[in-house]
This record gives sequence, C-alpha cells and structure tokens, in this order.
Amino acid sequence: MIFSDLEIISPILKAIKEQGYEAPTPIQAKAIPTLLEGNDLLGSAQTGTGKTAAFTIPLLQQLYISKSKKKKKGRRVVKALIISPTRELALQINENISNYSKYTGAKSVVIFGGINQRKQTSALQNGADILVATPGRLLDLIGQGYIRLNHINYFVLDEADQMLDMGFIHDINKIIAKLPEKRQSLFFSATMPETVIELSNQILNNPKRIRIAPKQTTAERVAQSLYYVSKAEKASLLKHLIDENIGVSILVFSRTKHGADKIVKSLDKSNIKSEAIHGNKSQNARQKTLQRFKKSKFSVLVATDIAARGIDVTKLSLVINYDLPNVAETYVHRIGRTGRAQESGEAITFCSSGEKGYLDDIQKLINQKIPVISDHPFHNQKEADAPKGKKHKKPENRSKNKSSKSKNARKKPSTLKGKFKKKPGKKSNFKGSFKRKKRNE
Ligand code: AMP
Repeated sequence: MIFSDLEIISPILKAIKEQGYEAPTPIQAKAIPTLLEGNDLLGSAQTGTGKTAAFTIPLLQQLYISKSKKKKKGRRVVKALIISPTRELALQINENISNYSKYTGAKSVVIFGGINQRKQTSALQNGADILVATPGRLLDLIGQGYIRLNHINYFVLDEADQMLDMGFIHDINKIIAKLPEKRQSLFFSATMPETVIELSNQILNNPKRIRIAPKQTTAERVAQSLYYVSKAEKASLLKHLIDENIGVSILVFSRTKHGADKIVKSLDKSNIKSEAIHGNKSQNARQKTLQRFKKSKFSVLVATDIAARGIDVTKLSLVINYDLPNVAETYVHRIGRTGRAQESGEAITFCSSGEKGYLDDIQKLINQKIPVISDHPFHNQKEADAPKGKKHKKPENRSKNKSSKSKNARKKPSTLKGKFKKKPGKKSNFKGSFKRKKRNE
C-alpha cells in the first residue's frame, strides 16, 4: 500500500514524501480512512508505530478542505485539540504537525507548563488552528481567558494510560466538560486496562477500534537482558557497558532526579561525557540537551521517566535501566525508546536484590523471563539469589553484600555489534480511583 491509496490530498502527500516515508505503517493504513470518514477512534497503539501521523494527517486534510470551503477570512480559531501527558511528547507532536502541514497552511501552537507563559499566550493571540497541550497549562490558560474550546471539532487524547498514571484524571474531566458536544474524538493508549476503557467511554461516540501493537510487542521486538549487580557496583557496570559500546547512542534510565545527576557525575570522573534530563532542569535546558543528543554531540543521555516519555531518537540502539521502575508498564515504555520504526534495539536492565519485586511485576506483564547475563565482571550471585522481599518496599538494597566478581568474565557481555543497525452530549462524570501518584521524576 502507498499513501496515495488512502486518498490523501497532494499538499500532505508532498510533505510526507519529504519526510522520507515510503508506505503507511499499519496504524496509518487502518486509521486514516476511518478518520477521514469522520468516525471516532479508539486506538490501542504504542509510540513508535507512527500513530502521530495517523491522527495528524486526517486532521490536516479536514482542516484544509473546510478552509477552502469557507470564504470569510479572519483570525484563526482553535478547531483541534491534542492533549499529551508530557511536555516532550507535546513538543514532538507539534514538530510532526509542522512537518506534515508544511503545504496546507495549517497553524499549530504548543503549550506546556514549566516555562514562562508569555510566548505561548502571544502565539495563541495570533491565532491557531491546532492546539497541542499538556493538561495543567491548558486549564491554566483557559482560566486566564486565553483559550476557548467552543470551536473544537477534533479532539485527540494521546497516551491515555500514562495520563492516568500521572494523576491527570481530574484535569481531563474538566477539559472534556468544556468541549462542544459535536466533535470527532480520538483516544490512544498503549495499554487498555479497565480504567482506560472506562475513560474512553466518556469521550468517544460509537468508536472504531484499532489495535496495533499489543504491549508484548515491544518486549518481543527489543532484545532484553538482565544483569544482577549490587547497588554499589551499578556505576562500574554502567561504565563497563559504555566502554563495550563506544559510539552507540545510549539512554540510561534513573528512577530519581538525584540519581540521574549522580550517574552523570560518576561518568564524568571516568571522562565519559553524558547529560541528564529530568524535572529539575528547565524546559529549555532539557530541549537543548535532547537536540544535542539527537545530533550525536554526546552519546549517553541519562533521564528520569517523565522527562523521557515520548523521546524519539532515531537510531537509539541501547536503553539501560540503571534502576528498575516501580510501575511495570514504565518498563515497556522505557525499552520502547529503542527499536523504533522497525530498527532493532537492545535493552539492558540492572537489578539489585532490593528491586526483585519490581522485576517480578515486569516479567508478569511482559509474560516472559528476561534472559540473565551472568558472564560479566560485576555479576553478583547474592543479588540474584536473594529473596525478593516485600513488594513495593524501598527499591534499593540496603544490605552490604560484597560483590563477587565473576572469574571468567566475558569481554563483551552483550553484543550490539551486527545488530544495528464523552460521548457527544454526555457530560464527563468519570470517577476513576486515581490518586495522583507521587512523582519521583
Ligand atoms: P510515532 O509512533 O508517531 O511516535 O512515530 C515513530 C517514528 O516513526 C517517528 O520517527 C516518525 O517520524 C516515524 N514514522 C511515522 N510514520 C512513518 C512512515 N509511514 N514511514 C516511516 N517512518 C514513519
């Protein structure tokens, strides 16, 4: 199948071609025709499947067609609203919209918290067709009178599961209550637990369902391995792996901001250049760091989960989980940062004895045992044999286990070589049992 089979108008086809896309991805092939017919959509799909283009292309096409029908010209009013859980993802969606709308004349504005609102409010005052927003800043600017949602006829809620995990349910309900009843609504989520389905029922009207990549797919696609290591030796193991993978772009996940800074400092002592992105860094600093990483100015990026959500770095070959996440689904999101758009990828996970409860949850979720690599200089059998202890207690091991270095440590523990390569009319009354989770980002 090619894009022109999907009856996409030429200004969009031209822009897609410039992006180097040759054929629609499965979600694009399924979603674009049904969205062009005006249906609501419930999409079960992960990042990396091309879902941004799947919802943006029909939006741009509908805006283009309705614009050419209208004679009157005036200031643009926001007709499409896309909600994303994180700033990074919002920026990325907006960047994609700019790419695909190059020849349609549609204008989009992105708003998110953590930075001064002035630039965002003046962009809004200049008029926009599409608004990409994180929930908090959106409600804030609605409250201040900068945004009205009464002309929205295309509404997208992206990464719904993450949105709920982050405790945004009340914000989302407030936003939905402000939308016009007559609209087209799209709802995307990587996973579809009961709570997410319940929320989708509040938003969608007789939706078409598209299920693309079940959550196991990322786990199957990405080559995973597990390294048992004491907490004290994680830094040394990390250095060892970086040395083994010179020139490879590596994303290292830390559970906490403080932990991320510590990793950067420790690598610095070994003359390994790395940078961290997390919630304590200004939005500008985070974006600059990310851009430099994308341009391969340095090869090790250390990130916390929320800061890393939605990061799309082509050719990111290796994800290292320095700490295990305390929410199992986060593991899938993390490893999904690699192996995107049909590239192969690898994920290495460090596990100390105190983290074994989390590991258990993850292995249950992905329905597979992550293969253990013991043949490395920092393998610690005590950590591997330790009982998993109480689930969800403090994740890190406080014991003073001395590491037992493997005598016959293999030079290359993990090879990357050769691989790389509301229903309308229905008021939102969703009362999920979500409490705002403590953000450790
Ligand atoms: P997404 O799932 O929207 O985050 O997209 C993941 C990656 O796939 C992004 O880098 C897109 O630029 C890329 N992509 C989206 N659609 C296509 C396509 N039809 N062909 C090739 N790459 C694509």
